[in-house]
Amino acid sequence: MTNSEIADNLKLTANLLELLDDNPFKIKSLLNASFKVDKLEADLDTLSHQEIEKVEGIGKSIAAKINELIQTGTTAELQELFTKVPIGVIQMMDVKGIGPKKVAMLWKNLGIESPGELLYACNENRLVELKGFGEKTQTAIKKNIEFSLSNQGKYLYAEIEEEAENILSQLQKKYPQEQFSYIGAFRRKNEIIEGLEILTTKTDLDVNEVEFNVPIVLEIKVSTPQGFGSDLFKLSSSVEFLNAFEAKHGAVENNVSEEEIFANNKLSYIMPSLREHATALNMAEKGNINAIVELKDISGIFHVHTKFSDGASTIKDMAAAVQAKGMHYIGITDHSRSAFYANGLTAERVLQQHKEIDELNKSFAPFKIFKGIESDILNDGSLDYEEDILKQFDFVIASVHSVLKMDIEKATNRLIKAIENPYTTMLGHMTGRLLLSREGYPLHTQKIIEACAANNVIIELNANPYRLDIDWRLIIACLEKGVQISINPDAHSIAGLNDVKYGIYAAQKGLLTKEMCFNAKALDNIEAHFKKTL
Ligand SMILES: [Zn+2]
Ligand SMILES: [Zn+2]
Repeated sequence: MTNSEIADNLKLTANLLELLDDNPFKIKSLLNASFKVDKLEADLDTLSHQEIEKVEGIGKSIAAKINELIQTGTTAELQELFTKVPIGVIQMMDVKGIGPKKVAMLWKNLGIESPGELLYACNENRLVELKGFGEKTQTAIKKNIEFSLSNQGKYLYAEIEEEAENILSQLQKKYPQEQFSYIGAFRRKNEIIEGLEILTTKTDLDVNEVEFNVPIVLEIKVSTPQGFGSDLFKLSSSVEFLNAFEAKHGAVENNVSEEEIFANNKLSYIMPSLREHATALNMAEKGNINAIVELKDISGIFHVHTKFSDGASTIKDMAAAVQAKGMHYIGITDHSRSAFYANGLTAERVLQQHKEIDELNKSFAPFKIFKGIESDILNDGSLDYEEDILKQFDFVIASVHSVLKMDIEKATNRLIKAIENPYTTMLGHMTGRLLLSREGYPLHTQKIIEACAANNVIIELNANPYRLDIDWRLIIACLEKGVQISINPDAHSIAGLNDVKYGIYAAQKGLLTKEMCFNAKALDNIEAHFKKTL
């Protein structure tokens, strides 16, 4: 059992005890221990009972529970608690915005025993009268339940990528004579996927032949060798794109390959990820489709965390990894001082890091390591250091990490103030969203884009597959205003650098050109830009 699973079980025990109004001291010590275990470096399941007892904040009785968890996967106490609390009530604790105290009230005073019942009670306006709740809380709870219900059966692209490859290669190996291809949202590399669709020439394929590693909805569509290309094209395009294509070029039928369709119409091949809007077709007709950014165009990487804050590797190792990809520069951006939970850098440690970068640059040249920071945007919109520190960075990414609950006016004004700060070079993960788990704060996006244009601020497309923030649907508006986009992995490890590819897929949907992609630029252009802006 991992430390984080042990921590979860201790926390669950504490929450269930709180639901049942048990001894507050016992609850508190369980919560403390859970927190400690989660942060612990040594794996508890490699320690002896005596060693566990000696870990600070754990003590005799909790050490015994941990031991029981490691030995049996659960505890007698948890099993007993489960008999007292209905499963639906436990699930209610997962609804954002309500802790065990509020769940206990809903359960005991209103008899609500599941998230579904809770949603119903919100719709009936029954929470308003309850002590400690009120209209605002009710609206928030309702929104959170609806959000999690609407996300059931959905996956992030990155979550199912490997499984999709597993399924396709199984089929290809088993029936080498037949054709197989992804179609639909997965082939277009959409950020969220509801299931996997595969087109094949094999007529009597049974889904049960496939061995799954991940439970996922698989849909098989059947085509013919003569019409495989047409079906592939039609089933991989968005409705808007297909309608625009057929309106101009006639119905797509009887093509053996997609390449044939494009060649017949004297068009360059349009990658599936681009087949969202009619605009991609217009670009192809004008011969401009090759201007869209591709992974091979990326020249350097910004937004990289290191051991200085919450990253897993050293500056040197991250830089070497980027260099090994054939790229020419890296921009180090650890967290700023207010992000204390992420070991954010004090002014003193900033200077220490700069010294280290200066040294490394000597040996890495002509590869360049830029001195950056991911500065928190404070609640009032200001950046996280005084001017004498800010001016020492080559560039600054400004991001919101705390107080994410804001109305649209507050959020817009807070961001605009940061954008107007002369030291801000890039706006990080614009809305703070986490796909399928957290909606971002609301923004007047057009105003934000215009402020970036007016202040020469680059907008980040955060390439972490959970974020993909700025949303690709807003990229056209950025391009219209002349705002450049930087595709940043927000890497916390060497493996995290590879997330850039997810950013590329999203950027392609937004029709980002190589020319407007900041980190597709050559090193001397980047240096010139930083000199001009700081
Ligand atoms: Zn961040
Ligand atoms: Zn970051």
